[in-house]
Amino acid sequence: MLDSAQRILKDVFGYDAFRGNQARIIQRVGAGGDALVLMPTGGGKSLCFQVPALLREGVAVVVSPLIALMDDQVATLDELGVAAVALNSTQTPDEQREIAERLRRGEIKLLYLAPERLVQPRMLAFLQRLKIALFAIDEAHCVSQWGHDFRPEYLQLGQLAELFPQVPRIALTATADMRTREEIAQRLHLQEAERFLSSFDRPNIFYRIVPKDQPRKQLLGFLEGRRGDAGIVYCMSRKKVEELASFLAEQGYPALPYHAGLPNEVRAHNQRRFLNEEGLIMVATIAFGMGIDKPNVRFVAHLDLPKSLEAYYQETGRAGRDGLPSEVWMAYGLQDVLFLRQMLQSSEGDERHKRVERHKLEAMLALCEETRCRRQALLAYFDEELPQPCGHCDNCVDGVETWDATEAARLALSAIYRSGQRYGVGHLIDLLLGRETDKIRALGHQHLTVFGKGKHLAEADWRTLFRQLVARGLADVDLDGFGGLRLTDTCRPLLRGEVNLQLRRDLKPQRAARGSSGP
Ligand code: ADP
Ligand code: ZN
Repeated sequence: MLDSAQRILKDVFGYDAFRGNQARIIQRVGAGGDALVLMPTGGGKSLCFQVPALLREGVAVVVSPLIALMDDQVATLDELGVAAVALNSTQTPDEQREIAERLRRGEIKLLYLAPERLVQPRMLAFLQRLKIALFAIDEAHCVSQWGHDFRPEYLQLGQLAELFPQVPRIALTATADMRTREEIAQRLHLQEAERFLSSFDRPNIFYRIVPKDQPRKQLLGFLEGRRGDAGIVYCMSRKKVEELASFLAEQGYPALPYHAGLPNEVRAHNQRRFLNEEGLIMVATIAFGMGIDKPNVRFVAHLDLPKSLEAYYQETGRAGRDGLPSEVWMAYGLQDVLFLRQMLQSSEGDERHKRVERHKLEAMLALCEETRCRRQALLAYFDEELPQPCGHCDNCVDGVETWDATEAARLALSAIYRSGQRYGVGHLIDLLLGRETDKIRALGHQHLTVFGKGKHLAEADWRTLFRQLVARGLADVDLDGFGGLRLTDTCRPLLRGEVNLQLRRDLKPQRAARGSSGP
């Protein structure tokens, strides 16, 4: 069978060799076995069911949650001369009848469907009369209630096991920690399926996260020496995207904007240019990237913090698909934390959902404040253990200095508490440094016991400390939306003197950028 698979790979898809686990997966499913596949984005999941679809008799039914992804794959298969169709709600009854007719005649090799469509009784009955080559369930983590992509329709896919006992099933996903993995196996009745876990490590990517100070200047520093390289710069807002794209263009960088608010033609045009021309920089919101497959993206920069490690991994993962050295870089600051915390607090959604999101944001922040190897920390989040520090991230290369911040943190927390848990970091720092500003005087804060008690640290140090306190959940943003800080329950042991706090010292940005070896 491997020979036939190899031939299909070459003749139909034009590739010379399978990658990673592909060959093993294809053999398993081709022979009629079930499989649960965990593979990072860009790893080549599609071939894992497309090749068996061609190896086996009958039509392969592919379940995918996004119409855009289905259309993409169908178009690609079309070009390769493979008979594939997607059934969707935009088709007229006539078109749908014609597809059904072609299916009955056995003319279609791959049928793409949304899950809610597949589980309609009429559809299931129709499929039971056909010869089915296999079921592929893409984005299988959608079945997990723990993930943020949960889709109730996915739960119903479990019944395929009973309805089609002879048909092999393959579930695929790019995001699955151990817990999600188990949920997928259980809910899709794939406990007996063979598991294929690929490493999430991207060894050719160098990771760097710097404290945000003067973001534009820092970004220029990062881009210097990368002229001529293609890259993506992610920002949170549409406005920032446009401003930054013009700014970079003024600085002589070929930068294009991309966000969901641009007219369709402009977006499509910019995307096409980025894919086809060399050395362009795409300044984009997260709207950019889904299904983008450009192998030689040399860098990905973040000027704002993603809201989870899953998002960070996906966005940075667009760098270096060709395996050549690439660098991802992020500037991260207190404002990011405050902003995301506030968004979370004020977001709609039930408590369970918010708790999941909060947990995810905390993991993201922990990576930013990480004192050990970033790659180890990132992979550990996906339940993958990297035995040694990688030697290929900023922490490994520069080293990280830590300091005992226990006393300073207590002082900072007292400042929050004594001033009534309603002021932002600027005011709190004035208070600690003993600055008699108008606001301090108007509030009578020069009489507070903490006034001027923090003169042994510089303003920048206090700023770092407040960021880390919020990042670690020791302080939180007030609900009023003005960025005032307040204490959390988590900080009590620290205030009572029961625990110590070791924090990373921010490297001076210039030093970080040079990549000097640390202490
Ligand atoms: P995923 O679904 O895992 O994100 P895709 O299936 O879209 O990844 O594959 C990513 C890219 O890698 C596609 O352009 C695909 O054609 C290419 N690819 C996959 N497998 C191979 C292979 N064995 N050899 C060369 N290119 C491959
Ligand atoms: Zn490392």
